[in-house]
Amino acid sequence: MNAGQAGGVMRILVVEDEPKMRSLLRRALAEEGHAVDVAADGEQALALTEVAAFDAVVLDVMLPGTDGFEVCARLRRRGLWTPVLMLTARDAVADRVRGLDGGADDYLTKPFELDELLARLRVLARRGPAPRPTVLQAGDLRLDPATRQVWRGTVEIALTSKEYALLEALLRHPGTVLTRDMLIEHCWDLASRSHSNVIEVHIRALRDKIDRPFGTAAIQTVRGAGYRLRRDGGTPLQEAR
Ligand code: CA
Repeated sequence: MNAGQAGGVMRILVVEDEPKMRSLLRRALAEEGHAVDVAADGEQALALTEVAAFDAVVLDVMLPGTDGFEVCARLRRRGLWTPVLMLTARDAVADRVRGLDGGADDYLTKPFELDELLARLRVLARRGPAPRPTVLQAGDLRLDPATRQVWRGTVEIALTSKEYALLEALLRHPGTVLTRDMLIEHCWDLASRSHSNVIEVHIRALRDKIDRPFGTAAIQTVRGAGYRLRRDGGTPLQEAR
């Protein structure tokens, strides 16, 4: 049993790029008697987790460079299941879902009360390491939400964050038509929703990576409705009727 599980002193890593918020969190957690380390960006956070073992990580989503989602995914890829409490300024359902799907354990929207943060951390520390999210699969197309890795068969496919978010949305509802609005809701923040063909552009890019090289057609266009991912992951084109 570690210190956190015992309900006592925890060693906590705070990852926050904003200096004021960073020192506020450091002070508040230290006042509670916890041992606190801070990182100003994602790479620094990842480096610290290589040299120290933490009971919990408070992770801001909006970081310069490597963002909070990516930091969490890379921790999980390394096999580190330290409880992660994500902080975000954006009050978006999509973020919440992404954070939790991506291996985060809990989620707090800024602004928040310090008491709330402390209470959530206590719960996380008691609960211990995170449960591993289920790998999503359709045929030989697989996506691991914990590590944000995608494979077609044994071939790993590198996707941009938007392509990944689109594929994840489709893979969560195989065989179901998702409208453009649903996909935008899942994948985009409010600021970038102005481009009318943003979905089409990214779907095309996604097809170029997960379908075209493999002679498959996993993503189907349903005219006037939206897009659907085939339950079988898209049979090779030459075998399709
Ligand atoms: Ca930030």
